[in-house]
Amino acid sequence: MPRRPGRHFLQLPGPSNVPDRILQAIGRPTIDHRGPGFGRMTRRILDGLEEVFGTDHEVFVFPSSASGAWEAALTNTLETDDRILLLANGFFAEKWGRVARGLGLEVEGLEGDWSLPPDPVSVEERLAADPERQIRAVLLVHSETSTGVRADVAGVRRAIDAADHPALFMVDAVSSLGAMEYRHDAWGVDVTVSGSQKGLMLPPGLGFTAVSPRAADAAARGGQPRSYWDWGAMRERNRDGFFPYTPATNLLFGLDEALEMLREEGMERVFRRHQRFAEATRRAVRAWGLETVCAREGAHSSTVTSVLVPEGSDAEAFRALALDRLGISLGKGLGRLEGRAFRIGHLGDLNEPWLLGALAAVEMGLGLAGVPHDAGGVQAAIDHLRDTSDGGGDP
Ligand SMILES: *Cc1c(COP(=O)(O)O)cnc(C)c1O
Repeated sequence: MPRRPGRHFLQLPGPSNVPDRILQAIGRPTIDHRGPGFGRMTRRILDGLEEVFGTDHEVFVFPSSASGAWEAALTNTLETDDRILLLANGFFAEKWGRVARGLGLEVEGLEGDWSLPPDPVSVEERLAADPERQIRAVLLVHSETSTGVRADVAGVRRAIDAADHPALFMVDAVSSLGAMEYRHDAWGVDVTVSGSQKGLMLPPGLGFTAVSPRAADAAARGGQPRSYWDWGAMRERNRDGFFPYTPATNLLFGLDEALEMLREEGMERVFRRHQRFAEATRRAVRAWGLETVCAREGAHSSTVTSVLVPEGSDAEAFRALALDRLGISLGKGLGRLEGRAFRIGHLGDLNEPWLLGALAAVEMGLGLAGVPHDAGGVQAAIDHLRDTSDGGGDP
């Protein structure tokens, strides 16, 4: 194989591109995780994470994939055989449900259309029909990375309140945290789950849970047998900035840097940038004459766009060709969307030329793969970016 010049375009909705600043931070020599200095860094990181989650309460960091944080959320707060209501509108929601089943929980899926966000009205109806209060938790995915649909977290909270139901509210913010507005406290979430490799711009390997006082109380009173994922042990050691076992020291160096980068840009600007890039991407898709999986205006995720290919085209063949000829990795269609959709990740450390390069590669790849489409997607994206440019991208 001849050398591939230029930079590989990792246009997945996670892992996202890891900026050089973070790679350099991770590349520092490993230090003693029980030594002086380490504790101060951890405390700074936990404070920074609280800001990103929008909480005044606790955030716990595990050396794990986000799936580990899914498990931590469930084992700390629920008993085996507890019933939970899963708002099942996509591949990642279903996957969280499988984790819950694996832990012996009774999972009731509230099936929903994959092209739409979960419907708060059916949540309220289902909870109102649970007079014995058997449902112990409601599980929702904020940005469903398989479909590119954004759920109305505050709306589902209102539905739970309208039914006057005590279930814990758990939200997966894996592909939204650090890129889309998220408010753990203000939206009344009990446990928010996230990971390092998406909006936070890090490599995979860290899982996060933000925990409300109610969830912390449930964990203190019960939960499943647990050790590695135990919030109590974590809280105890975190007080001074340490961990109950060897943490992922170098990833924490990277996280410290990532949080500093988010502070330097300012969260509002980070959110606005992701919104603009997502809108530019959708305009490109529309100009190509293609459709997004998300069928509701205003319910798109700002971090990923899931694009349907026309009947008779194979999204997997297109993706393979784009990777082989153009060196761009696009996300695959997941679950029932396999072969029918591909996903453009536009999250993390991204600027206009980078996004436009990615969209140009998609447009060219569609042509190479013979996927029927119209020209002009990149131009539509340029038009939007130009019309909304505020000069904030100056070096
Ligand atoms: C990526 C992702 C996950 C899974 O993360 P892992 O680190 O692979 O465990 C879960 N939920 C959503 C919404 C995701 O995008």
